[in-house]
Amino acid sequence: MTTTAFTDIAWLTTHDPAHALPAGVDAAASGVGRHGAEVSRGLADAWLVVDSGRVAAVGTGSTPPTDQRVSLGGRSVLPGFVDSHTHMVFAGDRSAEFTARMAGQPYAAGGIATTIGATRSAMDEDLRAALAGRVAEARAAGITTLEIKSGYAATPEGESRLLRLAREVTPHTTYLGAHVVPPEHAADPAGYVSLVTGEMLDACAPLSGSVDVFCEEGAFDADQSREVLRAGMAKGLAGRVHANQLGEGPGVRLAVELGCASADHCTYLAGEDVEALAGASTVATLLPATDFSTRQAYPDGRRLVDAGATVALATNCNPGSSYTTSMSFVIALAVRDCHLTLPEAVWSATAGGARSLGVDDVGHLRVGARADMVVLDAPSPDHLAYRPGVPLIAATVVGGDVVAGDVGAGPLG
Ligand SMILES: [Zn+2]
Repeated sequence: MTTTAFTDIAWLTTHDPAHALPAGVDAAASGVGRHGAEVSRGLADAWLVVDSGRVAAVGTGSTPPTDQRVSLGGRSVLPGFVDSHTHMVFAGDRSAEFTARMAGQPYAAGGIATTIGATRSAMDEDLRAALAGRVAEARAAGITTLEIKSGYAATPEGESRLLRLAREVTPHTTYLGAHVVPPEHAADPAGYVSLVTGEMLDACAPLSGSVDVFCEEGAFDADQSREVLRAGMAKGLAGRVHANQLGEGPGVRLAVELGCASADHCTYLAGEDVEALAGASTVATLLPATDFSTRQAYPDGRRLVDAGATVALATNCNPGSSYTTSMSFVIALAVRDCHLTLPEAVWSATAGGARSLGVDDVGHLRVGARADMVVLDAPSPDHLAYRPGVPLIAATVVGGDVVAGDVGAGPLG
């Protein structure tokens, strides 16, 4: 096999606990790493060797002999982003709803029905083409691992169709039959829950790694959510919950009680929710681009990290409440508005997402990891928040192959 050395890396984020904190981060003074919280670590003036799609070695000083060398000219490298929460298979456009919201209309869970209507009537090839466009956008934005949920069909055939399309682009698929009660079941929500936990689950479980439920006023209550999660988890699926997005509620505690992989949103938390997450394996996934697009309060990431919770960051890419594939934007919001430090936000957007998806060979660049990398047109990842809105992703690498951008650019100007 061909070995490739990527050299002249100003800062290589590895997440190796044996490596250094980024310059300017004083662990003792800032509280970074307290309470078991995990932060990004790495090497200055580094190189990284890829062999057979995996990280074979990292280091500083003289580079070991390899078949190929690629100078990154003083750029920085971080693990590819792991986006653990998206709804990318859909048809239609809800920009008018966004525009109305910015003009003062409140956000409510019911808008999902609009996308269900458009998605149900779309042909496979149209959904596939739209999905391919979004995946390409995500790749260019540095996302190398992607979770995709169903949830815009609300019928057994429709939900399994969305999961089949999602499986064409990622192994990380989530069954979200319990996204919203569709209009034709409005008079009988209990009957819809029976469908979600019965025939629909049977059709979707073989195509899914996780089961998810929107536990919120206007969607599913605690008992309905518990039923959905228990049924899916009994089939071997990991549990996920859309929890505490629009107000305080039972979602987070339910996720922890059932041993779910993640509780997502976590925008409105009571003290007991934070306590529950602090000692749990359940990852608290923050989706601050949603709070941006719905003009809501942001989740208090600082409080979660200080309590000892494991925090992930994801885009929640969907047409209603967060139509973005930019993890750079999510990191900038997490730093400015959720009060994570930059190294915490980088960890959460990479290793945190991997923790939520239950995968251990992505989200870091230690030896043995898949060589999934973001090459940043900046000397350090701090620039992701310091230079918001600037397209800093020079290249995205998956398994050692460049899938977007160009690593062969000249020295960083
Ligand atoms: Zn979502």
